[in-house]
Amino acid sequence: MKLDCDIIRDLLPSYVDEVCSERSRAVVEEHVGECAACRSLLERQRMTDFSAEKLEERELNGLKKIRSRMKRQTMISYALGILLLLLGWNSFHGFELFSQLFYYLLLPACMLAVYQTGKQEELHMGRGGVDLWLSVGAAVLICISIGLLTLSLTQALEGGAVLGVPPEQAGPRLAMLWGVCFLMQLVIMGVLLYRQLRLKVENRFRLCICITGVFLLFVYVEALRNLVDVTMAKQNFLQMSAVVFVLGALGTLLCYFRSRGRE
Ligand SMILES: [Zn+2]
Repeated sequence: MKLDCDIIRDLLPSYVDEVCSERSRAVVEEHVGECAACRSLLERQRMTDFSAEKLEERELNGLKKIRSRMKRQTMISYALGILLLLLGWNSFHGFELFSQLFYYLLLPACMLAVYQTGKQEELHMGRGGVDLWLSVGAAVLICISIGLLTLSLTQALEGGAVLGVPPEQAGPRLAMLWGVCFLMQLVIMGVLLYRQLRLKVENRFRLCICITGVFLLFVYVEALRNLVDVTMAKQNFLQMSAVVFVLGALGTLLCYFRSRGRE
């Protein structure tokens, strides 16, 4: 009996997988009908086989979920990019489709979209330095945008040339320089988004800095277009900057602390 058991146990795996011969199958079935020890062993082998299959299925489902999540995040990223491009086109090409209020409402919506691009994702803070320098670049671009505005307003109040051109040509020149800033912000955003989606670097709060810079430019161009009195302009620009900064800072900090909290 003991010898039989050993032979039967050798046969069990191929029996469970249904790859043994007819003859072996008959022998195994006959034996387990009589031997309780081998019967329980067979049950156990069937169980583990079954759970392995289940496990595989679960893993496959998990993979599918990850893939569909990545797909969604990539879609959101593309949608955001296209939206900003269209807004930029509208802004710098002079279609005047939207008011300041529209931008104030759209800014939080865009930051929410940015937040979604990294939701439920295992992201790391990215200490390589590239992402840090990119966000520093975005912040510098914001400073340049505000600097250009301050410089041109000061020069306009003094009379004489503004940004190196006669005052009546200063508006288009300023808008063009801001347009360059806008495009550079978009490039930085593209790289940050790519690094987040592909290399799993947590860049959401850095992206919020870029978006703040971009919307600052949108409202500036809008205000520049409706500018009537230069002496009143400073007050107006200051108010708009404050609103965009507060909204942008809120989104940036929220994203930052959410990602920090998970570390
Ligand atoms: Zn047996």
